[in-house]
Amino acid sequence: MPQFGGKHAVVIGGSIAGLLAGRILAEHFDYVTILERDQLPDDGGARKGAPQGLHSHIMLKAGELVIAKWFPDFYEELNASGEVPVIDSADINWFHYGVWRLRVRTGMPKTLMTRPYFEWKIREKLVNQPNVTIRQQCEVAGLIVDESGNRVTGVKIGQKGKGKMTAAERHSSDVDPDAMEHLSADLVVDASGRGSQTPNWLEAIGFPKPEEAAVKIDIGYSTRLYEPPKHKTFDWQFLLVYPKAPYGSKIGFVQAIEHNRWIVTLAGCVGDYPPNDEDGFLEYAKQLDRPDVYEAIKDAKPLTPIKIHRFPASLRRRYEKLSRFPDGLLVVGDAVSSFNPVYGQGMSVTAMGVNALDECLQEQAMYNKGNLAGLHRRYFRKVAKIVDAAWLAAVTEDFRYPQAQGPKPFGTKLLNWYMGKLFELASVDQKIYFQVILVQNLVASPRTLFSPYIIRQVLKSNFTKTAEKENKSIAVEMNKQA
Ligand SMILES: Cc1cc2nc3c(=O)[nH]c(=O)nc-3n(C[C@H](O)[C@H](O)[C@H](O)COP(=O)(O)OP(=O)(O)OC[C@H]3O[C@@H](n4cnc5c(N)ncnc54)[C@H](O)[C@@H]3O)c2cc1C
Repeated sequence: MPQFGGKHAVVIGGSIAGLLAGRILAEHFDYVTILERDQLPDDGGARKGAPQGLHSHIMLKAGELVIAKWFPDFYEELNASGEVPVIDSADINWFHYGVWRLRVRTGMPKTLMTRPYFEWKIREKLVNQPNVTIRQQCEVAGLIVDESGNRVTGVKIGQKGKGKMTAAERHSSDVDPDAMEHLSADLVVDASGRGSQTPNWLEAIGFPKPEEAAVKIDIGYSTRLYEPPKHKTFDWQFLLVYPKAPYGSKIGFVQAIEHNRWIVTLAGCVGDYPPNDEDGFLEYAKQLDRPDVYEAIKDAKPLTPIKIHRFPASLRRRYEKLSRFPDGLLVVGDAVSSFNPVYGQGMSVTAMGVNALDECLQEQAMYNKGNLAGLHRRYFRKVAKIVDAAWLAAVTEDFRYPQAQGPKPFGTKLLNWYMGKLFELASVDQKIYFQVILVQNLVASPRTLFSPYIIRQVLKSNFTKTAEKENKSIAVEMNKQA
């Protein structure tokens, strides 16, 4: 018996957000249909509709917890398969903000894999859910509303669900409605990613578009897969070299992935894009703040061509601020917010947001079983709180670069100063290291970084640094006079 008591839910998009939404809605509705534009690969290969899948992805602890809740044996089975590397935080070698982080065993296992492999494994689990259907090569073209105009009652599918729409059809409001399949639903959930058309579809049915906040950061990614060199051993499974922003803008990751390979991603902020040619790729790796990425890959065997991706800006759609929104419609995942990817938050924030949908449907069932009226208010308020923390963390960091453009959160300068101190202390103080890790994994509130102990250490380190600087300048002055 579905908990919420709904009949049919439709999900637009069969990627991370869509699959997870499908799993959760299956608890609340008799049946769920996921509509995906792409033909989905029946292995762990990348696909056109999720081009970011070609690049390094890491799932934070908060995201893993949501996945484990909805697919309880997911990580156990995967880890036992021997196909994927399972690591501890001590296996992560991370140069960040001018220092190497401590490497202490936390006992929190982490499974490393590519994003397409992860998506495929989740999809494999979901197809066993008897009340969920995934329809591929089905592109949603718009929403259907009831006579009152206040409630979404389904979606229009392009070319009668027989394939993809042309670009002209996708953007034209006068597509022949007879050429479209109409699919009815009690609830429609948009999980179609950053390019979501919901703002335009809302406008087409007489509702306001959400306000958008964008922070421009102009990141470029270049990625290729490698076979690790056979004659060398490394004491890490995941190597990350970040710059001390704003003095540097180049980033490099070498991440162990499924089937004993490495995914190597070079990324550059504020337009410092890494190239996609052999020599340029290695040269860029050499220019990172530490030579370790270059040293690791110079003798490794490339397995694929170099693929690039551009990410212009973090983007947030403020659905929670809308005064009018139709019942029967929700939006999840990147369609609500997408962040500068170098902080690795996207899939985890997506998972936490979709999980909030379950909480909202349970609450709704308590007061209003089977009735979706007002669900969107409850849901968007919850999601906004989840996004707030991740957004603040990502964009304040981005504003270390003077070239970053967009709405700057209050207190950015002070926060950046404080976080810079914490990043430095995470290389020497085990307590601070753990707390920074927990917050960066979205499992502890950022407020925990302001405990009396941490504030004391930050002030102490600032005082020591200032005293060191003063002593140095006194020494220089004395030398000059001598
Ligand atoms: C370069 C890069 C690196 C990243 N690295 C990380 C990382 O390390 N860690 C992390 O957590 N996150 C990372 N992210 C973010 C992460 O990829 C996303 O947050 C995550 O995939 C959530 O995506 P989604 O399911 O909401 O949307 P998407 O993955 O974009 O999926 C949307 C889906 O909807 C389908 N679709 C679109 N329109 C329609 C339509 N009209 N009808 C039917 N189907 C439709 C698409 O084909 C696609 O399958 C990165 C992003 C980028 C760009």
